[in-house]
Amino acid sequence: MPDTFSAHDHANRNQAEILISNDCACFGCYAVFPASDVTRFTETTAWCPKCEAFSTVVGDASELPLDREFLEAVHDHWIGPQDWLDEMAAQTHAIATAVYTQTSTTMDEERVRPWWRFWR
Ligand SMILES: [Zn+2]
Repeated sequence: MPDTFSAHDHANRNQAEILISNDCACFGCYAVFPASDVTRFTETTAWCPKCEAFSTVVGDASELPLDREFLEAVHDHWIGPQDWLDEMAAQTHAIATAVYTQTSTTMDEERVRPWWRFWR
């Protein structure tokens, strides 16, 4: 397996390398696009033109492969396995739903409580 550690180095402070690349890829969204599509940099680190992730773009001048298998390996290494992210998102959603439900129930009690029971 090619070096997923060095992909991180090539995704940061990589403006010079992007400028001499033909194609770039993003290990955030797995898109492959011409290097000329990358127009946004912050302190010489590229933003992905597809998903607007930061420090996830590597150019082919890095001599790293830009194929899906490698991008997924880098994604799993530096961002996290997709099934783990999906699980996190599901849990966050469940918590947000529970909190929202609880809050809105309280809100409804407040609303239906008559003014003379203000002090409970
Ligand atoms: Zn992207």
